[in-house]
Amino acid sequence: MPELVRIEDYHIPQTVEETLELLAAETKRGREVALLAGGTDILVRMREGRMQPRVIIQIEALDELRGITETETSLRIGARVTFAELLASPLIERHARVISLACFEIGAPQIQSRGTVGGQLGTASPVGDLIPPLLVLDAEVLCRSVDDERRIPIGDFVKGVGKNDLRPDELILGVEFPKPPPGAHGLWHKMGPRRAQSISKVSFAGLVHLDKRKRVALCRLAYGAVAVTAIRARETEALLTSQALTPALIREAQALVQTEFSPITDLRSTESYRRKMCGVMLRRGLSGLLEQG
Ligand SMILES: Cc1cc2nc3c(=O)[nH]c(=O)nc-3n(C[C@H](O)[C@H](O)[C@H](O)COP(=O)(O)OP(=O)(O)OC[C@H]3O[C@@H](n4cnc5c(N)ncnc54)[C@H](O)[C@@H]3O)c2cc1C
Repeated sequence: MPELVRIEDYHIPQTVEETLELLAAETKRGREVALLAGGTDILVRMREGRMQPRVIIQIEALDELRGITETETSLRIGARVTFAELLASPLIERHARVISLACFEIGAPQIQSRGTVGGQLGTASPVGDLIPPLLVLDAEVLCRSVDDERRIPIGDFVKGVGKNDLRPDELILGVEFPKPPPGAHGLWHKMGPRRAQSISKVSFAGLVHLDKRKRVALCRLAYGAVAVTAIRARETEALLTSQALTPALIREAQALVQTEFSPITDLRSTESYRRKMCGVMLRRGLSGLLEQG
């Protein structure tokens, strides 16, 4: 049993401004701070002794980080929005179904009702199921400190296993992305050791738009758990874009995507299985689109 962590201060700010002041002050003092959102990652890490913050800032009360809003061209999701709220959102279902499909397979209802978008980005795990959908939606992460505000493309924000571009004095406000063109299809597939409550061996998200002649007008593909971060399959996207979607093209894309990454072998899966599954998931997703007409 690891030694119990001694927390020196526990704050429950009521506004974003108050939170940013606390973060700025603690960054100057040099004490390790943890923001506590849903707690589904951080509490596990603390209990296992992998994280020992001296200060906890609970951000549950920050209503400014709640809500899913739209403009004519974009969608914004607050950092405190939970997976369950994403699942229940008609806006997400209409404009970003790839997110609903992924959230449906995250953990169990208990995790879905606690885990948040900000927590997923804060943890920056290569198996985080929300990150491939955010990659194909071209999302930007909105971050703020006392004297700065930044918009960071999600592909630049997530830097490695457990590493992100967030500075110690910054708070994630949420994510924003352009609405996909009407008729664009969201694709999602997750392979885990079992059907429910499983961590991905490989996950796949796609955003594909076919024009009236079944030509691929837009194609974005991303995979989780095949590299140190979730990653876009740029070569396969280029192969498919502007081509008529046919069974032969799908086979070619399946073969290519299997060569795009260098996955690792770990306790969850092997390099060769992961590579093969990248192709199988893509084939299933694109074949499904062809069958739907
Ligand atoms: C049993 C179980 C099953 C799970 N299954 C899945 C699964 O199937 N798929 C999956 O993807 N994940 C899964 N998870 C992981 C977890 O639920 C997600 O990563 C979730 O998004 C974490 O969100 P949270 O709000 O609980 O984060 P927390 O644990 O509260 O925080 C996580 C990290 O993010 C930081 N943080 C949180 N909010 C902000 C913010 N606004 N600004 C800056 N930093 C912030 C925290 O400081 C901390 O470092 C599972 C976890 C458990 C315990």
